[in-house]
Amino acid sequence: MVKKNKDLVKKLIKISNYYGQRYDLIQAAGGNSSIKFGNKMLIKSSGYSLAELSYENGYSEVDNKILLKYLNSVKDKEIHIKDENRSFNILSESLHSGSNPSIETLAHSILKKYTIHLHPLACNMMSVQASSRELFKKIFKSDISKNNIFYINYKTPGIALAQEIYNILNGKVPRAISCGFILENHGLICTSSSINGLFNFTEYITNKIEKYLKLDFNDYKQTTIISKNLEIIGYKNLSVTLCEDYKINSFLKKNNLSKVKKPLNPDSLLYCGIDILNVNSNIKKNLMNFYKKYNNYPRVIYFKKKIFFVSENILKAKEIEDVFKSHLYLYSQNNVKRALSKENIKRLESYNPQKNRLRFWFDYAGKIKK
Ligand SMILES: [Zn+2]
Repeated sequence: MVKKNKDLVKKLIKISNYYGQRYDLIQAAGGNSSIKFGNKMLIKSSGYSLAELSYENGYSEVDNKILLKYLNSVKDKEIHIKDENRSFNILSESLHSGSNPSIETLAHSILKKYTIHLHPLACNMMSVQASSRELFKKIFKSDISKNNIFYINYKTPGIALAQEIYNILNGKVPRAISCGFILENHGLICTSSSINGLFNFTEYITNKIEKYLKLDFNDYKQTTIISKNLEIIGYKNLSVTLCEDYKINSFLKKNNLSKVKKPLNPDSLLYCGIDILNVNSNIKKNLMNFYKKYNNYPRVIYFKKKIFFVSENILKAKEIEDVFKSHLYLYSQNNVKRALSKENIKRLESYNPQKNRLRFWFDYAGKIKK
């Protein structure tokens, strides 16, 4: 399957990674992404976070025809527990390959080619308000009147939610090029006939709500900027995470970053890399220079007065945060430090048994420039 649908999987990774690293749009293993082709659909598997979806893991292929047929058969039914159980059986029946497809697979089945389900902070801050329906109507008046945005009353995730969306659309795929569904007390689903359309529409909706609620999520959004620039220098689909650790941030307020750059122990080198990139002018230029100097990408980046971690996926970025904090503790006392010598660093970077012992080594050494 991987080989056959390589291009589609590549697109699904691109979509999933775009959203997966944005804390303002999705948290933990929530949300899901999908792409339709013919009567089939690739969709994120249950239990995986968007940012960890890869060629090898995290997605399932399902038969969309089976799902649509089932949705049509229950469109007028009141949903009970036995229907929920039946819907899980239908999901298993529809599965061609991969592990359990996401619980929202049925809701995706009726939508356009590219679909994303998110739990955006701003959207949810508004959708839990008692007067949320009126608020959304006010902000998105024209989009709602043109059927570009729909407001969906709270429904249990799964078949009940899918049924509601199916009925609002009269069982037909939405006409608009991009459209969105605000899910009361839950999140947002956006669907589009193009990937860029999907990106633009989700940002459009969330930006508008953020503006209305006077929220500033710019720090989270910088992860997309850094990620795009890493792509320019040849590193695709890396995850960038904003550091919100209190200890790290208060340490850096009091200390000069340039004085804490050198790795003092093996783990610091392995996890946080040989150097910290301080973006002081143009991020693209700074990243290029870093690559030229070290033939690698930075694991820790200081950008717009914030620390960001770069890794293969968000979980590993969190591991870098852990080690980076310990790295700062090593620098926290005012005395002369013994940095790892060039020879020690060289030895560590080429020490194969060490690579096998540490799971992380594989990524550190094996991340190839694509
Ligand atoms: Zn959800």
